[in-house]
Amino acid sequence: MEVNVRSKVSPSQITCHVCALSLSYFWCSAAGLPNQGQAKDLPIATNGQPFPWDRMRLPKTISPLHYDLTIHPNLTTLDFTGVARIELDVHEDTSIIILHAKQMQISNVLLLAPEGIRPLHVLEYPHFHQLALKYEVQLEFAANLSDSYHGFYKSSYRTSSGEVRVMASTQFEATFARGAFPCFDEPAFKANFTIRIIREPRHIAISNMPKVKTVELPGGLLEDHFDTTVKMSTYLVAYIVSDFLSVSKTTQHGVKISVYAVPEKINQTAYALDAAVKLLDFYDDYYDIPYQLPKHDLAAIPDFQSGAMENWGLSTYREAGLLFDPDRSSASDKLGITKVIAHELAHQWFGNLVTMEWWNDLWLNEGFAKFMEFISLDITYPELRVDDFFLEKCFEAMEVDSLSSSHPVSTPVENPMQIQEMFDDVSYDKGACILNMLRDFLTPEAFEIGIIQYLKRYSYQNTVNSHLWESLTNVSDVCVSKVVEGYEYTTVFTREAIMDTWTLQEGFPLVTVEVRGREVRLSQERYLKTDDPSLTEGFLWQIPLTYMTSASNTYPPLPEVDWVKFNVDMSGYYMVHYAGEGWNSIIRLLQHNHTALSGNDRANLIHNVFQLVSIGKVRLDTALELSLYLSRETEIMAVTQGFGELVPLYKLMEKRDMAALENQMKGYIVDLFRGLIDRQEWTDSGSVSERVLRSYLLLFACVRNYAPCVTKATQLFNKWKDSDGTLSLPVDITMAVFVIGARTPEGWDFLFEKYRHSMQMSVKSRMKFAMTVTSLQDKLKWCVHLASYGEVMKTQDLPDVVVSVAKNPHGYKLAWDFLRANWHTLIKKFDLGTNTVSHMTFSSVCAQVRSFFGSLTEETGSEMRCIQQTYETIEDNIRWMDTNLPLLQAWLNKRSHKVAHEDL
Ligand SMILES: [Zn+2]
Repeated sequence: MEVNVRSKVSPSQITCHVCALSLSYFWCSAAGLPNQGQAKDLPIATNGQPFPWDRMRLPKTISPLHYDLTIHPNLTTLDFTGVARIELDVHEDTSIIILHAKQMQISNVLLLAPEGIRPLHVLEYPHFHQLALKYEVQLEFAANLSDSYHGFYKSSYRTSSGEVRVMASTQFEATFARGAFPCFDEPAFKANFTIRIIREPRHIAISNMPKVKTVELPGGLLEDHFDTTVKMSTYLVAYIVSDFLSVSKTTQHGVKISVYAVPEKINQTAYALDAAVKLLDFYDDYYDIPYQLPKHDLAAIPDFQSGAMENWGLSTYREAGLLFDPDRSSASDKLGITKVIAHELAHQWFGNLVTMEWWNDLWLNEGFAKFMEFISLDITYPELRVDDFFLEKCFEAMEVDSLSSSHPVSTPVENPMQIQEMFDDVSYDKGACILNMLRDFLTPEAFEIGIIQYLKRYSYQNTVNSHLWESLTNVSDVCVSKVVEGYEYTTVFTREAIMDTWTLQEGFPLVTVEVRGREVRLSQERYLKTDDPSLTEGFLWQIPLTYMTSASNTYPPLPEVDWVKFNVDMSGYYMVHYAGEGWNSIIRLLQHNHTALSGNDRANLIHNVFQLVSIGKVRLDTALELSLYLSRETEIMAVTQGFGELVPLYKLMEKRDMAALENQMKGYIVDLFRGLIDRQEWTDSGSVSERVLRSYLLLFACVRNYAPCVTKATQLFNKWKDSDGTLSLPVDITMAVFVIGARTPEGWDFLFEKYRHSMQMSVKSRMKFAMTVTSLQDKLKWCVHLASYGEVMKTQDLPDVVVSVAKNPHGYKLAWDFLRANWHTLIKKFDLGTNTVSHMTFSSVCAQVRSFFGSLTEETGSEMRCIQQTYETIEDNIRWMDTNLPLLQAWLNKRSHKVAHEDL
């Protein structure tokens, strides 16, 4: 999945999640119970009888081999009925079958035993205690289509003539298949699925496999029969009933690719179709394993919570994540769409073919898919220069991983909320960054061979961490020292031991480097934002160190050098502190010859120096001195990281009534980048990185009221408005133009009218963003209202709207009031523990946060990790302000005095 806390569970919750399916049907005698003799501790089923299983995870006594599913959604009454026939493999003597079902009515449960069909109470028969190999059970079920974004859920959209059309789609990862049909809803219970969907003739149905035939039913309904799937986990099952249209092509390897969308947007599918064809061919070759199914469909769903989902053979996406209009979509839209397709297709092998045993190792799916976005695009779309955007993933991961509430990449989880919380920056981004580090020290070739071995060896099976390390151990060995392109690298490790230190303990190391003549002293400690030093004790990492020096062509011993830079290109997931004169020599280097280091190295230094201020290792004025070189910076990662470190400084003041200092800081940032901003053309020319950077810089300049930018954007907005929106603006600058336009009530209203009628998802996204950064309070309120109502602005966009309004200095109180007043509805709609909910929570850095979150119960989210992260971030900000505010003031004063003096 593409996207974005601990809870003890009461017995009643266990019953609800593991098996709302009334399993007392299956259980008629205490003989053979797993908890024999402890009946008094058993949970109570809905009918008041003891429920014979008291653990969250299913027993391993029985596993499913094959599901025959017939599903009949009714898009008028918004409910569905179904029949599930499950062929079972009974491994051990048992009298019960425990499986999952959630919020559905179960009826007519039958055992299809060799001696005939019987209602399931026949399980009382003694022979059921035997190790009989195969049984089938059949269950009928009925439920409402879900009103959320998971399970079998309702989606709808409005045509340009205003007609509302309803469809039904699925999202089962992580634990929502159980809400659509009774099943063994854990990733290790892989089975084959034969699916039939009953529909009206005006709709179509699609599923994981190709359709083999359609049968006419009495009453004018049609039943589509789909081919049987390969062996797979329940969370990858998918089906959609809709009025979608599609376009198709065939890959070089003979796989039919189709892209589905609502009819009026089918003309925006060509880019995704070509990208999917190209990327599936790439993976076929890279993995050296053919894609397993005859077809792959990509569907753009009008209501979708996360970014996309990798269902085997039928990946699903947000409309904005898949639909591309060459004339209206921006460079970053192109990058985003290509990446998300690359991610979901990478999962067809990593995740679908080889699946983690349990959700604690989710990173084996998500870290890999995230990493493969970069590997695949680097080769298939070199013009997108995807490498320019990798480091930000590591910076984002480090932000949450530097709090004591972080968790190891591989973490024990049990209940659905904990599982949902695994879909976070640690599993995705840290996972990708440590894989990048691993690939760097193994070499790309050895890494690829190891990956292929792993995928071949565990096809159609489930794995744990160690299986991956074993596959990689077979391809290369322990100790590496090398000199590459004049740079000196040393690496000492044993593979499993080294990787366990990165996956089984949370956080990351800070390496302190001290150069004394020809001697370099290194030490490590955990980097942690805390005022309790005891929390950093007991951590040790095996770090694959890399470094380069001013005398880069000698190795070893280290000669006397002017400067040394560790973590070359930031290929390692750690920070570096240059003690003694170290930072000063780096500052001198950046000031006089910054191109001696790569753009990634420079971004890395900017990140490290400011982050070291937060833990008191470096003084703020040292970090600010380093930032001065940015006036000559042009590389996107270093520029955006410069903004990434400097902007939060005035954001801290924005909500604290410190306008003078805040404006001084804003002025410093604008000054720093003035040259670069002035050089931007208001066109769509240049490479993808240049275009993304332009869009970013002009938006920043306009939001910060940089006069030349505001004037130009105002002119363009007025022209566009005068043409009634028909004037075609250069795409990359529209964000800046819309933001300026939305500052006046008339401009905002005009933008809203265009938003309401637009069919271009990427244009709508930019308009929506512009409408939420206005200073007009009543408009901000209206935005939040619209998104929660869901008619004009989709409710799937509500979290983005709330986060954007919360970041707006004129809106954060409004966003917080909304979040607090609607918390219970929001966690029901978006589900507790999802990163949608945690993003909204995380953005609410506000004084009343504690009293509200403190009033929550376990059921309403008190145990969510994001609440802890929010508390820690608030404390960290307060510490930062207390320590650094006087320094910041003094440094800015000194600088403005100096600049004024130089002007004379
Ligand atoms: Zn994913």
